[in-house]
Amino acid sequence: MSDRQQLLDWIDAEQDQIFGFYRDFVRKKSPNPPGDTTEAVRHITRFLDGSGVPYRLVDPQPTMANVLGTFEGGRPGRHLVLNGHIDVFPVGEDPASEGWTQDPWGGEIVDGKLYGRGAADMKCGTSASIWTYVLLHRIKDRLKGKLTLTCVSDEETFGPWGARWLMANEPEVRGDCCLNGEPSSPFSIRYGEKGPLWLQFTVTTAGAHGAYTHYSPSATRIAARLIHDLGALEDLTFDLPDNLMRAQSEASAAVDRAMGDGAAEILPKVTLNIGTIRGGLKNNMVPGACVFEADIRLPIGATREQILPEVEKIAARFPEARFEETNYNPPSYCDPFGDMVEIIQNNVEELRGFRPTPIISLGGTDARLWRYENIPAYVYGPFPAGMGSFDENVPIEDFFHVVRTHVLSAYDYLMAS
Ligand SMILES: [Zn+2]
Repeated sequence: MSDRQQLLDWIDAEQDQIFGFYRDFVRKKSPNPPGDTTEAVRHITRFLDGSGVPYRLVDPQPTMANVLGTFEGGRPGRHLVLNGHIDVFPVGEDPASEGWTQDPWGGEIVDGKLYGRGAADMKCGTSASIWTYVLLHRIKDRLKGKLTLTCVSDEETFGPWGARWLMANEPEVRGDCCLNGEPSSPFSIRYGEKGPLWLQFTVTTAGAHGAYTHYSPSATRIAARLIHDLGALEDLTFDLPDNLMRAQSEASAAVDRAMGDGAAEILPKVTLNIGTIRGGLKNNMVPGACVFEADIRLPIGATREQILPEVEKIAARFPEARFEETNYNPPSYCDPFGDMVEIIQNNVEELRGFRPTPIISLGGTDARLWRYENIPAYVYGPFPAGMGSFDENVPIEDFFHVVRTHVLSAYDYLMAS
């Protein structure tokens, strides 16, 4: 029997264990914030211990440990890194009021779908990485190259203790290519993503009694005008590198299918979201302060150095306003026609009969950190159903599809070296 067939047979024979691992992983609460992933990390390490594979914990922040494992195949070759995160978005005090019809931490199965916070983002993909590592380890003597597993705990808040820490302090996580199972939809492979630029604006005035509007301008009204004017950022246009022009022109339908109608239209543009706004103490007072945060997403081809002068120009019309940058991750991309893309496409075609399209993602992932180091990094995972909102879920069939695709693609990538 071929090794590829053996891998697929193991997945069939061990379906209950593979799905059970994923379901229990969803049940191990790991919301970030606050970001304590202890229980979920223990779930992973218990399984890795039982599987007899090498790993160690890297925990610069002890309640947010990262699991790092690596092994060499029997022959020299390329180094593939598997990356996934353990932390998930938080859920409010009363999930039903947010729209949840299932217990977000219950691992409930309804109509063939597993529900729960993190089911899609990204305990499905991280489970696929973990099982890929364990199954390929069983045939390691016949494998080429090297396989590294990185499960990180500080992704959801762009925190410093997860993949950023590994990238800076653990050189073995670099490798020749990175495969990540963040939500992408089975129909697309993500080779790049937009870059968030977060700015916090503060508007300050003297403030006054609410009836004495002649005494002071209102900080909230100035903020409202400033927010309106910042909308002009969405009209800026940028040039794309040639190979991306080609990839993007072929991808519009896949982009809408993966991220909803209208996604392809905003993909090449700057977008502006005012995520928070606070101002005023009481309705009969003219507010003397208003603070708001802008989450600006830069498309491929745009840089902070182009955007900030535009923001400054707009803000300069409002002498009561100042702003500071609170977060920036440049947009990133790698080769949309790279060999890992073709490997994934071939495997998905073999498994499901269609070829996923390479696209750019609207949202951010840790894959960017590999691209910043010029290491190609690709994302292939389930639909983002309910991601960051309510009733997050993944069809069980899609979960197994992601597992099979990761296992086969990791194998093919290593053996092709
Ligand atoms: Zn994620």
